Amino acid sequence: MFYELMQSIRCALPRTCIVCGQTADADYSICNDCGCELPKFGDCCLRCGIELNGGLAKESCCSSCQLCPPIFNSCIAVFPYVSPIDKLVADFKFSARFDIGYSLSRVLASAFNAYYTGMAKPELLLPVPLYKSRLDSRGFNQASEICNVLTEYCGVPTAHSALRKIRNTEPQTSMTSAAARKANLRRAFTVSRWDGLSGVTHIALIDDVVTTMATTQAISNMLREQQDCRIDVWCLARTL
Ligand SMILES: [Zn+2]
Ligand SMILES: [Zn+2]
Repeated sequence: MFYELMQSIRCALPRTCIVCGQTADADYSICNDCGCELPKFGDCCLRCGIELNGGLAKESCCSSCQLCPPIFNSCIAVFPYVSPIDKLVADFKFSARFDIGYSLSRVLASAFNAYYTGMAKPELLLPVPLYKSRLDSRGFNQASEICNVLTEYCGVPTAHSALRKIRNTEPQTSMTSAAARKANLRRAFTVSRWDGLSGVTHIALIDDVVTTMATTQAISNMLREQQDCRIDVWCLARTL
């Protein structure tokens, strides 16, 4: 939705920085000063994407993933979920600030292209779905909107309705244990269209923020039960 909107008005509006509101010439609508000051990750775990606290060699996994790796192959986030990224993502999701969503997704698209330099990109993007009532009240799925930008700048198609959330769940952040989070999401997702997925061996699962990994794990588990495929999770932000 916002994607088409942004396409039509992008050329008509002067570019302003999504962080400070000053004029921004850059394509990403983030001025140079803010671009330099935005939080960045250091070396991250190759599997789950959390920042490694030093002491571990680059190209390594965190201790949790060494003991029990996630079902998906990798999780890559552009930004740590700290100020001002947390507020920017919230404005995108809850206040329909599509300009912010577009800019952050452009940064994600650059990281995506850089990551797959010299190797095959995923064949398909799958946005993490929202439950119908949530989708109706918000009016858009932020993950689908991110996918639109990735499809344009990375050349990978999106299967917008392949995944469906069939059960309304409690917010994952309200769960106090990993077991509760897992139980909360049991049978919450389904694949509504396997035909578009048949023969696909490399999928990118797209979400706005990855926090506990319970959602991405649940979806990856469901996909892997049906199909042997590599699953890379991509998100705008990852909690520390
Ligand atoms: Zn700025
Ligand atoms: Zn890890």
